[in-house]
Amino acid sequence: MTSTASKLTAWQKALVQAITDPQELLNSLELDSDWLEAAKSAANVFPLNVPRGFVARMQKGNAHDPLLRQILPLGDELQIVAGYSEDPLQEAKYNPVPGLLHKYQGRVLLTLVGTCAVNCRYCFRRHFPYTDNNPGTEGWERALNYIANHPSIHEVILSGGDPLVANDKTLQAFSDKLNLIPHIKRLRIHSRIPIVLPERITPEFIHWISQLKQKPILVTHCNHPQEINAAVAEAAHLLTKAGVVLLNQTVLLKGVNDAAETLIALSESLFAIGIQPYYLHLLDKVQGAAHFDVDKETAVKLHEELSQNLSGYLVPKLVYEQPGAPAKKPVELYTV
Ligand code: SF4
Repeated sequence: MTSTASKLTAWQKALVQAITDPQELLNSLELDSDWLEAAKSAANVFPLNVPRGFVARMQKGNAHDPLLRQILPLGDELQIVAGYSEDPLQEAKYNPVPGLLHKYQGRVLLTLVGTCAVNCRYCFRRHFPYTDNNPGTEGWERALNYIANHPSIHEVILSGGDPLVANDKTLQAFSDKLNLIPHIKRLRIHSRIPIVLPERITPEFIHWISQLKQKPILVTHCNHPQEINAAVAEAAHLLTKAGVVLLNQTVLLKGVNDAAETLIALSESLFAIGIQPYYLHLLDKVQGAAHFDVDKETAVKLHEELSQNLSGYLVPKLVYEQPGAPAKKPVELYTV
């Protein structure tokens, strides 16, 4: 008898074999079990989930490793902090049909799947009701009808949950339907997978993306130069060769990348593998992530240091998102 596991591709196996047990994570990184109780409690609210290949890029014995900080559940997440909310961008307001967010002029955001390859502790959607908002293939009909009935929409954005968790068959079925809507010119995919699970960028995936009728744009999410290894570089190379525009967004995170030299190295490392630094985001004020927040004044100073030390095209835009605003806002243009 063929088991389900044996039918999985290599990247799907890596996905299901991700580390979800805090004890296993601490053991594999040779870390003290002092972190365990808090990690278990915080993981009850937002589970631990990290691919082994990403853990392999962390330094053993270093509880402050910048990659570990992004995925290790901490007791700090359980503090209720004033000014932080479960839906910081008030996305529930812009959700005309399940799985579709229409926040911005000319583009809509679609959630194809409700899961990610990694659970980032600072994620602004850590409380988002994905189970109610995962349209499934039947639900696409409603979302695609909405898009077809709004000719002002030119760009479809596939976003988190991570759209590349969907298998190639699902992606193909989706793009077959999208191809029937002539006013869609661009398909933008926001994904952390090329960074945390680069083996997902298979020849089959490259075949799919290179055949799209819409211009493909892939916005990766990389926060620290240590995340970039040879496998990530190879994935970026394959995507570039297939004609995909590669951009990166970074979230500015205390204890992870809030140092000018780290951000400079990140921009240079991204560009070296063909990814254009695009956005440096302030943290969205989601409950459970306050300990990652970098204040605006520090953020602006860091950004100035980037501008002084890098060519202009290597400096990402420093932005924040305001609920209801028609676009991301540049931080320089508002009060510090
Ligand atoms: S991959 Fe993106 S959507 Fe998923 S948990 Fe991380 S930040 Fe959130």
